[in-house]
Amino acid sequence: MTKAQHANLDYRVSVALPVPLYRCFDYTASERPQVGARVLVPFGRRQMVGVCIAVERYQQRADETFALKPIVEILDDASLWPKPLWAILEWAADYYQHPTGDVLQQAMPVLLRQGAAASYQTTTRYTPTVSGQQLALDELKRAPKQQQLLAALQQRPLLRRDLVAAEYSLSALKALQDKGLVDGIEHEPAAKDWRFQIGAEPLRLNAEQAIALAAIAAAPKPQTYLLDGVTGSGKTEVYLQAMAQVLRQGKQVLVLVPEIGLTPQTLRRFQKRFAVPIVMLHSALTDRERLDAWLDARNGSAAIIIGTRSAIFTPCEQLGMIIVDEEHDSSLKQHEGFRYHARDLAVVRGQHEHVPVILGSATPSFETLSNAQRQRYAWLRLQKRAGAAKPARHVVLDIKGLALQAGLSQPLLKLVEAELEQGNQVLLFLNRRGFAPALLCHECGWLAECKRCSAHYTVHQGRGQLICHHCGSEQRIPAQCHDCGSTQLIGRGVGTEQLEQVLAERFPDYPVLRIDRDSTRRKGALSAHLEAAAENRYPILVGTQMLAKGHHFPDVTLVALLDVDGALYSSDFRAAERLGQLFTQVAGRAGRASKPGTVVLQTHHPEHELIQDLVNNGYSHFARTALQERQAVQLPPYSQLALFRAEATQVELVQQALQAIARLIPERPDILLLGPLPAALERRAGKYRWQLWLQCDTRALRSQLLRHILPQLEDLPELRRVRWSLDVDPQDV
Ligand code: ADP
Ligand code: ZN
Ligand code: ZN
Repeated sequence: MTKAQHANLDYRVSVALPVPLYRCFDYTASERPQVGARVLVPFGRRQMVGVCIAVERYQQRADETFALKPIVEILDDASLWPKPLWAILEWAADYYQHPTGDVLQQAMPVLLRQGAAASYQTTTRYTPTVSGQQLALDELKRAPKQQQLLAALQQRPLLRRDLVAAEYSLSALKALQDKGLVDGIEHEPAAKDWRFQIGAEPLRLNAEQAIALAAIAAAPKPQTYLLDGVTGSGKTEVYLQAMAQVLRQGKQVLVLVPEIGLTPQTLRRFQKRFAVPIVMLHSALTDRERLDAWLDARNGSAAIIIGTRSAIFTPCEQLGMIIVDEEHDSSLKQHEGFRYHARDLAVVRGQHEHVPVILGSATPSFETLSNAQRQRYAWLRLQKRAGAAKPARHVVLDIKGLALQAGLSQPLLKLVEAELEQGNQVLLFLNRRGFAPALLCHECGWLAECKRCSAHYTVHQGRGQLICHHCGSEQRIPAQCHDCGSTQLIGRGVGTEQLEQVLAERFPDYPVLRIDRDSTRRKGALSAHLEAAAENRYPILVGTQMLAKGHHFPDVTLVALLDVDGALYSSDFRAAERLGQLFTQVAGRAGRASKPGTVVLQTHHPEHELIQDLVNNGYSHFARTALQERQAVQLPPYSQLALFRAEATQVELVQQALQAIARLIPERPDILLLGPLPAALERRAGKYRWQLWLQCDTRALRSQLLRHILPQLEDLPELRRVRWSLDVDPQDV
């Protein structure tokens, strides 16, 4: 054995790699990496960035017949994550039964995944020395590259990256340094250098707000709070004042917001109140800016960190509080790969780091409500609007037997007209984009179906295309029926595009603005549209669910939900909860002090219990009733759900795979196993999709079971032929 190989045999390092396998890989090292530090290792034919999970003195194991490979490089001197956050990542890998290597990858900025140094961009600044400044350039005429560079530096100092960008010769630079003509000085942004300073004065709290703030401030030890307050009740003001107390102690606050809520409005409100450094982790950042923001959080130089769900993994030097705004929002759950719920991780993080967590919503999720009912969370309620706005009037519009024009009934059109004539703004919700959800042959009944999905094509009139909303496949709208050749093809059903068109024809004097995924595809289009809407440049707004979140349109006095019937009879047990949230959220945005609002629900089932409860008794009451129903049938949050999903081009393979998993699950009274069953959309992009529903009485039982079966799945031949995944606490079933 050579000396070099010997030297590598000092330590055995277990490394988590971003591969879909549940185990770690062992390597040898001559130096001891810290647990949580990244290492570069050989894997197959390439090199990969992994994270050191454990280190011990090297000893050959009896069952190890092959030689371990040495790691290539230790990339970090210390763990990327402080201890408590490291513990949470380990906890999450176990709770979601997701491979640790992938969990850790997701928890780091992209540049770190790629192996970049966990430091600010090396910003070496080059300046001429005294002799370099005085040197006559002529003396360098036999070295023109050095002459050029020194001439530039005599004008002004340059950063290394400026030199590279301007393509100066780096060897000329080195020569100038060797001659003592140029100096390079490293400079790093300073770590924590902010002091708490208030910007705008806080508002005088009303009684409910004051009680809520006192509860948070006076708690003997940190805990989780549900700030359950109707829209406009002043939740944000409570956050701001609770944050002030934390910032005053020199501690940081982490704020999670829904994807679309990342509007400049939020940021401006925080910036106005606090004169401290705020970093915003939004999608427009470059990878470099994201890493810098992450470093600012980690070294404490950012006081407030605002971001969407993945921000929950941001290390903070001195974390003092976590706020999750709109905690019911489904964008907090990651829907593929590592399927974590950022709200749930926020609660766990609060416990580990001993900091209070505030979950705020006008329509708390049923999970959170049940935790509040069971007194696991302190329940703080704000029942009155803080400003002068009055609650909206609710109207349930029975559309049975009524003629509909693009989904609009005559009574609704009358209401719209009345508001428009008074100079008000109206907002119409329809959760279907495109012109029509299907193309129908009027003569034979043929419907244009996607060949790769169990779904109809959506008609996009404006683009002249049929588009499948499930796999994205497109084709030109055909001129003739594929079955009978008739040219009488018509759109069946209504989408936002058609709604926009019909409204524009019916109310030619009032511009219509449509806000959905199609109309906001261009970068910056969404914020431009939202701004135009808020300024009432368009009296008529048409939108999908996209518009329901976190926006405020002060001139909107009428909001209508055009089609809620789908949610009443959905196969998804959360459909009613979502409808209640949507209705309440949009209702909360209608009207203000001088102009009370109206919310209209169009339905064929006006007598439906859920609708009656929601409209007459409000979200809290509705939620309590709906929770009792969940309890009666033992659905979450009264049981713990996990979903195995599988997909493949052959339906038998999918069934066999899920059956193989099912065989590993013991028959017990406290475990309910359903399936394999086809998913709501059975075929997508040519693949069959089935699922296996696993419901356990307790979380502990579910964890124990999953821990037991997951490692066995890698060896199941049936699973190698399908794409499968596990979703713990699934949101879409
Ligand atoms: P929420 O976050 O619950 O929707 P906001 O915090 O945005 O509510 O408050 C709604 C409106 O009421 C805002 O315009 C805010 O400035 C105002 N407001 C909040 N608290 C008070 C208060 N204590 N006194 C006066 N106005 C308030
Ligand atoms: Zn036909
Ligand atoms: Zn399709």
